[in-house]
Amino acid sequence: MNTASFSSWKGKIVDNRKGKAAKSVDIKFPAQLGVDNVSAVMGWNGLVVMDPDADIISLTMNYLKEARKLSCGECSVCRIGIDRLLDIFGKMSEGDGNKKDLFEVQQIIRGVSVNSKCNFGRSVLFPVLDAIKYYRSDFLALIKGERKLETKEYSYAVTAPCMEACPASLDIPGYIELIRNSRFEESLNLIREKCILPGVVGRVCPHPCEDACVRQDIDGPLSIRLLKRAVADYDLQEGGSPLTGTMEEKEEKVAIIGSGPAGLAAAYNLRLMGYKVTIFETLPRAGGMATVGIPDYRLPKDILNHEIDLIKRMGVEIKLNNKVEKLNLKELQKKGYKAVFLAVGAHIGTKIGAEGEDKGYEGFVDGVEFLRDMNLGKKVQPQKKVVVVGGGNTALDCARSCVRIGFDNVEIIYRRSRAEMPASDEEIEEAEKEGVKFNYLMTPVKILEKDGKVTGVECIKMRLGELDESGRRRPIPVKGSEFTMDTVMVIPAIGQRPDLPAMTGKDKVEVTDWGTIKADLVSYKTNIEGVFAGGDCVTGPAILIDALDMGNKVARSIDCYLRGEDLKREISFEGVNTREQREQGFIAEKVAEKVDLLDVDKRSEGFTEVESGYDVSEAMREAQRCLRCYRLMVCEQAG
Ligand SMILES: Cc1cc2nc3c(=O)[nH]c(=O)nc-3n(C[C@H](O)[C@H](O)[C@H](O)COP(=O)(O)OP(=O)(O)OC[C@H]3O[C@@H](n4cnc5c(N)ncnc54)[C@H](O)[C@@H]3O)c2cc1C
Repeated sequence: MNTASFSSWKGKIVDNRKGKAAKSVDIKFPAQLGVDNVSAVMGWNGLVVMDPDADIISLTMNYLKEARKLSCGECSVCRIGIDRLLDIFGKMSEGDGNKKDLFEVQQIIRGVSVNSKCNFGRSVLFPVLDAIKYYRSDFLALIKGERKLETKEYSYAVTAPCMEACPASLDIPGYIELIRNSRFEESLNLIREKCILPGVVGRVCPHPCEDACVRQDIDGPLSIRLLKRAVADYDLQEGGSPLTGTMEEKEEKVAIIGSGPAGLAAAYNLRLMGYKVTIFETLPRAGGMATVGIPDYRLPKDILNHEIDLIKRMGVEIKLNNKVEKLNLKELQKKGYKAVFLAVGAHIGTKIGAEGEDKGYEGFVDGVEFLRDMNLGKKVQPQKKVVVVGGGNTALDCARSCVRIGFDNVEIIYRRSRAEMPASDEEIEEAEKEGVKFNYLMTPVKILEKDGKVTGVECIKMRLGELDESGRRRPIPVKGSEFTMDTVMVIPAIGQRPDLPAMTGKDKVEVTDWGTIKADLVSYKTNIEGVFAGGDCVTGPAILIDALDMGNKVARSIDCYLRGEDLKREISFEGVNTREQREQGFIAEKVAEKVDLLDVDKRSEGFTEVESGYDVSEAMREAQRCLRCYRLMVCEQAG
């Protein structure tokens, strides 16, 4: 909580200027803007003044100048309005103003807010209205020539609810606007700035951005994921453009352990900066879980391979079949590596706690191992029945793969109810259509066997209790409810933890109680000098875009480290993810463009991709739905 001199944030007026007992404002802008010392802030939700001597007029003019840059000019309402406001304030500051000008300012703001076609135009000028309402005497003093504008330093930030929800803060309204204007190549370049696997993420991202989309409450969110995919697919159809960027070759070498999304993103960014990058990878193929976890029917491997190939063509060396068994920094340093990035993911399946699971029975196969073998081309013999244990991505991928391999009977058992399942609704629905049977509120207690081969699984029924630390209701075993399910195969898939390289003495990286690497979540530095860590091996199993984001950030952190510079804080906004807006105005309803899904009957025939993407015109039509909810914040620095 801050004690501001004045705040109109979210329409709540806190005015401490009259010397009354100061009320606090629930706002943390200075830290979010990465500036320690802030005197005033103007942003999408209002005006906040910390220092009573802040120059609100200069702040307003700087805010308008930045807003002018974000105005797309497509409906021209906000651009013309902002230009006129800048004219008026410019005249005022030259002593050419008039009291009536303030009335005109209000009229213009109301006109722009009502008539603009996008949410940026509709909302951007409200804080200016607050400024002239609550700091009217300052503006009148300017008009009378009693006040001069001060020269201050300003910092700026731009976000949007979708951008804020995206772990990588992709400029979503920006790349969608380019699609709308048929500028697919530029759209792809903008996406690639923060997401180097657009075709992959455009297929499998659980799209937290869409949950935050303002349209969610109107006629359903924009299909942001599919738009990203459309841009990547279009590029591939056109022959696949290479990755570009200016590279000034540097002498320093960086070693990356693991070629998953985190390792690839870091490698690409470091290469762009000119570093020599080598990735060491245990497996015969690069890509991490995107290659050996996610099956082809969701992510065809040619898409992933193409995107990895582009990174390799930048000069990133990937040494496959090269497991780093032991972290030996001295040896790496001898070879010239100045920094190491541990991006080893989480590849060891979590135990389910059932008796017999460690006995190595034939037919008892860990989920990640099952998918890895299958994705690396090992033939899996279809069986009469398989029981998959778990309710997340891995469990669903195992079950749906078994359908495609030709298992007669595929069942999932999950210890909570459907509402608590971590897998997405779409995934569950598609699995149901494909014939996967879901059994809720039960868990295995014993693996049954005969002659070392699985014959069944003994389960116990569960009921749901109070909420646990994950925010879901805790499953509690129901005493005496044990029962047996016959099956010849059990695939446990309830989670993963990292398989870290051996570490000794000084090279021992600190780990958490969950077996993940302890790293600073801003710099991604570990306790060992020159060793960084990111991706699933730090967070535990997460999603691709999280790993990509960390890879991007690790690259910046390694660059600062190698140049001996301090890492600058990233800007992030708290509270922008609310869909609230002071006025929504009229938005014509338009539901999302649909895409075709492969016929259910055809799915058991193989691993053909289930979802088709948008073609160019469908993507352009879907992009028209974007409300362009950019939000701008300008901040006056003290001193
Ligand atoms: C089955 C499954 C399905 C998933 N589906 C989705 C999805 O639909 N959408 C989504 O967003 N996310 C999904 N995820 C999660 C996503 O794949 C991961 O969050 C992401 O791949 C993590 O990236 P990473 O680079 O941290 O690690 P990984 O992708 O795991 O890559 C780590 C790499 O390091 C290598 N490695 C490990 N140890 C060593 C060593 N000692 N020496 C050399 N190399 C080593 C590994 O072989 C691996 O290639 C899924 C995960 C799984 C398991």
